[in-house]
Amino acid sequence: MADMSHDPTAQATRIWGDALALLKHNSSLTARDKGWLEGVVPEAVFGTTIVLCVNNMATQQAMQNELNDALLQALNIASGIAMFPAFKIVPRTETTPQETEAATPAPKPRPTYTQSQFDIRNAPTVADLGQESYRPVMPPMPQRPPVPSNPAPQRSQRRSDSTGRSAQPNVAATPKPKPQPLQQTTMPTPQFTGNRQQVARDPETHLNKNATFDTFVPGDSNRFARTVALAVAEGSGRDFNPLCIYGGSGLGKTHLLNAIGNYALVKDPTLKVRYVTSEEFTNEFIEALQNPNQSQGQIAEFNRRYREVDVLLIDDIQFLGGKDATLEQFFHTFNTLYQANKRIVIASDVPPKNLKGFEARLISRFESGLPVDVKPPDLETRIAILRMMSSMNHSNIPNDVLDLIAERFTENIRELEGALTRVTAVASLSSQPVTRTLAEQTLQDFFTTDIEIKPTDIISQVAKYFHLTFDDLVGKGRTKNVSLARQVAMYLSREMTSMSLVAIGEVFGGRDHTTVMHAYARISGEMQQKQEIYNYVMELTLRLKQHSSGGK
Ligand code: ADP
Ligand code: MG
Repeated sequence: MADMSHDPTAQATRIWGDALALLKHNSSLTARDKGWLEGVVPEAVFGTTIVLCVNNMATQQAMQNELNDALLQALNIASGIAMFPAFKIVPRTETTPQETEAATPAPKPRPTYTQSQFDIRNAPTVADLGQESYRPVMPPMPQRPPVPSNPAPQRSQRRSDSTGRSAQPNVAATPKPKPQPLQQTTMPTPQFTGNRQQVARDPETHLNKNATFDTFVPGDSNRFARTVALAVAEGSGRDFNPLCIYGGSGLGKTHLLNAIGNYALVKDPTLKVRYVTSEEFTNEFIEALQNPNQSQGQIAEFNRRYREVDVLLIDDIQFLGGKDATLEQFFHTFNTLYQANKRIVIASDVPPKNLKGFEARLISRFESGLPVDVKPPDLETRIAILRMMSSMNHSNIPNDVLDLIAERFTENIRELEGALTRVTAVASLSSQPVTRTLAEQTLQDFFTTDIEIKPTDIISQVAKYFHLTFDDLVGKGRTKNVSLARQVAMYLSREMTSMSLVAIGEVFGGRDHTTVMHAYARISGEMQQKQEIYNYVMELTLRLKQHSSGGK
C-alpha cells in the first residue's frame, strides 16, 4: 500500500505532515514558535531519524531549543516510535530537497546533518511499523468442492434497461438453493455476523473488546486519526484534549473510541474508562431525574459515574444537540474532567464547529482540543480491511472476490462488511464456493446504491410481507411473528439507509439503539444459517428496490 511505502521521502512527508498538524494544535507553543515550522521541509527517513530541511540556522536553533520537546513528542506520535530529527540547512533559493538526491535511500544519515538525538541501534524502521499485526495468520481452510448440480444462480436483468428504471424484478430468479445441511465439521463455512461492533459490551466500561487498534486497518483516510487516537490511549497525547474524531457514517469512529479505551486499559488496568453514546448519556440522565424521591441520590450517582472516570469516550455527540438540560449536565461533566486533566474523546458526524444545537462555549471547548477526521478509505485500504475481516472470520475468500467488493463499495466500511456478509451467506446456504461470479450476481441485485429508500417504506413493505400492519412493527407487541418482522425491518433499515442506529430506533416507536443493534446482529447471523430468513431478506430487498425505483 502507498502508505506502507519503503520510500524514505514518502515516509518523511507522511510523518512530518502528521507531526506538523500536532504541533500546530499544541497549546503549549506560542504563535512565534509555530512560525518556525513554516519553513521546514521533510527530506527522508532513515531508521529512527527524520531529516528535516530548514532555511537557516535560526530555524534550526529554534527547533532544537524552544520547540525541541514538542517536536520529539509529535514525531514520536506521528511515527509510532521514538524518532529524532536531523537538520539540514537548505537556503530557500536552492532546489527543493525532493528534487535532489532524497529519493535515493541511503543506509545512514549523512554526517553533515546536525542530530538532536540519535540512536539507530536495533530500532524498528518506519517501514517495519507498516507491517502491523492486523492480519492474523489463520490455518488454511479445506476447499469446498464445487457443486455442479447446484449451479450459480441466474439473475434477472432488471437494472439494465436504458431508462434507468428497473425492469420487472424476477423474484423467481433469486437464488433459492435447496436447503442443505451445512457440513460444518469438515468444511467451515465463512460466516460474518456483520458489524463487529455488535458484540456484547463490557458491563463496566461498555467497551467492545473486539474493536482494538489491532483490528483497525490503517490507510491514508484514517491514519492521522488512528495515530492521534493511539497517542491519547497511551497517555502521551495530553495536549489533544478533547480529541474529537469526526466523519461520515461507517468510517471507524466508534471503532477508534473503543480501541482507545481498550488500549488505555491494557497500559493501565487500574484506569476507569467509560464508553457511552450520547443517547445513553441522555437516557441515564433522564432516568436519574425521573424518580422524584431519589432524584438527588440518583443525580449524585450519575455525576459520580461520569466525573470519576479517567478516560471518557462519548460517541455520536451530535445527538445531544438541542437537548439543553442534558447538554448543561454534560458541560459540567466535561469541565470537571477537563480540569482534572482526564482524557476526553468525542466522536461526531460533523466537525465540532458545525455541531447544531450546541452552545458556543461547548463548541469552543471542543475546538480547543484536536479535531481529526476519518474519510472514506481508498481502494487499497478497502481491500486490506476486507482481507482482515475475511481472515478474522477464518474464511478463505478468494482475492478477486474481495477486490470486487472493494471496487464496488467506496464510501463506507460498514457497507463492505454488509456486502461480504451477503456474498458468504449466498455461498453458505447454497453450498457453493465463494467465487467472483457468485459475488457479482449477489451484489448486482442487492447493492446498487443509487436508490434512496426511506425507513417508513421498509416498515410498510415488511409489514405487508408478513401480513401485519405498520403499527404492529412500531408498536409494543412481542409475538414471535411481530418480533421477527420487526427485526427484519430493522436489519433492512440499517442496510438500506444511511440512518444511525439511534435514528432507526426512533422510527421504530422510540426504541433504544441497542435493540436495533441486536436485531441487526441476529438477522445477519441467522441469514447464514436459516434459509427462510435469508429468503425474507433477499425478497424484501428486491421488492423495496423495485418499489422505490418504480416510484421515482
Ligand atoms: P462509525 O462509528 O464511523 O459509523 P464504525 O466504527 O461503527 O463507524 O465502523 C463500521 C464498521 O467498520 C465496524 O464494524 C468497524 O469495526 C469497521 N471498521 C471501520 N474502520 C475500520 C478499519 N480501519 N479497519 C477495520 N475495520 C474497520
Ligand atoms: Mg459510530
